[in-house]
Amino acid sequence: MYYKEIAGVKVSALGMGNMRLPTVDGQENRIEKEKAREIIDYAMSHGINYYDTAYRYHGGESERFIGEALKKYPRESFLLASKFPGHMMVKKEGGVVGFTSGLAGWPDSTVEGVFAEQLEKCQVDYFDFYLLHNVNEKSLAIYDDEELGVVAFVERMKAEGKIRHLGFSSHAVSPATIDDFLTRHEGVFDFVQIQLNYLDWKLQDARGKYEVITKHGLKVVVMEGVRGGRLAQLPEAQTARLREARAGDSAARWALRWLQSLPEVAVVLSGMTTLEQIQENVETFAAPDPVSEAEKAMLAEVADSMLSWVPCTGCRYCTEGCPMELEIPKIIAAYNGVKNGDFMARYDLDRAGEAMDARRCVGCGACAGICPQGIAVPEIMEELPQLMKAPRR
Ligand code: SF4
Ligand code: SF4
Repeated sequence: MYYKEIAGVKVSALGMGNMRLPTVDGQENRIEKEKAREIIDYAMSHGINYYDTAYRYHGGESERFIGEALKKYPRESFLLASKFPGHMMVKKEGGVVGFTSGLAGWPDSTVEGVFAEQLEKCQVDYFDFYLLHNVNEKSLAIYDDEELGVVAFVERMKAEGKIRHLGFSSHAVSPATIDDFLTRHEGVFDFVQIQLNYLDWKLQDARGKYEVITKHGLKVVVMEGVRGGRLAQLPEAQTARLREARAGDSAARWALRWLQSLPEVAVVLSGMTTLEQIQENVETFAAPDPVSEAEKAMLAEVADSMLSWVPCTGCRYCTEGCPMELEIPKIIAAYNGVKNGDFMARYDLDRAGEAMDARRCVGCGACAGICPQGIAVPEIMEELPQLMKAPRR
């Protein structure tokens, strides 16, 4: 494992993301603890010291799990990062915050109450890194609210030693939103976590975001480096191209090596679900092996050939609030397949059950309202049945 730095802290170049842990029967909030613990133990014994979670990952169970899994290790042997869930909150009377629609059943709280709950669930006295979750054009209503005072609160927690370093994650549409937030809070944050990979460099202007963050002298923590697995499983034509360039390397390794070529990237988070994934990733991060300029140009061409795809990362924020219990990310993956002439995607959809039947969508829009990628899910649900009727290409 090689290491980089955030504000003088030595961080492993590969970080363990805790939003895609193995689950029981695919149920989001039921982590398969034994398997997940094996992954954490493997990470700890192979030099990974950065562990990222958030209030809402795995329906709130991720923080609890990682707290249990890391408890047996000395506190100074790992760096724990969690996030304040302002992007999913609405302000109520008297400094109270509630959760947005789609998170029915989550009790109202206060900014202080949420933070105290997080420390307790993670079984720690302090967070090494604490982030405001998804500062974007919509969530600024919470993060900029003077009465709630979220930024002032986290600064106070830092002064009291309950937070060592502050950052924020962002799925903002525009780099200017990040720039403006950093300018208004100059000196508060040490790093920003963004969705960064060779496809989003252009598709979601990750390049503009990277440039804004580094202009402020801050480090970048990467999420969705392989785009929720999509860059690990490329269509055949793109896979063949990569194979020709370096026979033994997987598509995931190409995506991670591309990230290694960005000097201000400190940690690349990977939401690793299996031991095989973490084994391969640990190998990829044994020593830096950045892509060459020629390889970078080739990956840019591979990305250009995929720009028309719907950019779902499979984060599943949308599924919890769907009244029809549709498997939205799987449907979108199938939609991408059908649109790109993938015969198997059609075949699979033809035989899928109710949860994959886009015709059952009632168009309520709860999914689109919560999607960090801004995907117009109801439009896809409407279009997919028509596409299925169209002749095969
Ligand atoms: S618009 Fe359709 S897919 Fe989205 S939450 Fe409503 S029913 Fe589910
Ligand atoms: S549609 Fe949006 S919220 Fe749902 S899984 Fe995809 S990226 Fe996540």
